[in-house]
Amino acid sequence: MEPLVTCTKCSTNVPVKDLRADKTGRGWVCIACYNRQHNKISHQDILQKPQTVKKQEPPEVPQNKEPRKISSYKCVGCKYKFESSVNALDKQCPYCSRLGTIEKVQSASEILSSIRDMPHY
Ligand SMILES: [Zn+2]
Ligand SMILES: [Zn+2]
Repeated sequence: MEPLVTCTKCSTNVPVKDLRADKTGRGWVCIACYNRQHNKISHQDILQKPQTVKKQEPPEVPQNKEPRKISSYKCVGCKYKFESSVNALDKQCPYCSRLGTIEKVQSASEILSSIRDMPHY
């Protein structure tokens, strides 16, 4: 029977051979806690994503001076939402460049007017 000692960090009873001196020297910790104390920095490095892929900003649509009806569209492929004054349904998604994924998003006022236009039964 190996004598068990309680880890001062996580209160787990561990065999003496698995004990390590605490970083502060005031107590004894289990191997898991010891590793956690000593590998803190390198552990964070591992957690950090190696490379953050920068998402391309969609090209800016030049503002048209004439008052045109702006409609909202969204891409079902990448969930990107955008507004366009022209029919974008058959255009490429400005974000993921896929074709045929554009859906028109009805604005609140459009939905309201379509409700108003509905015949009453
Ligand atoms: Zn522990
Ligand atoms: Zn898309």
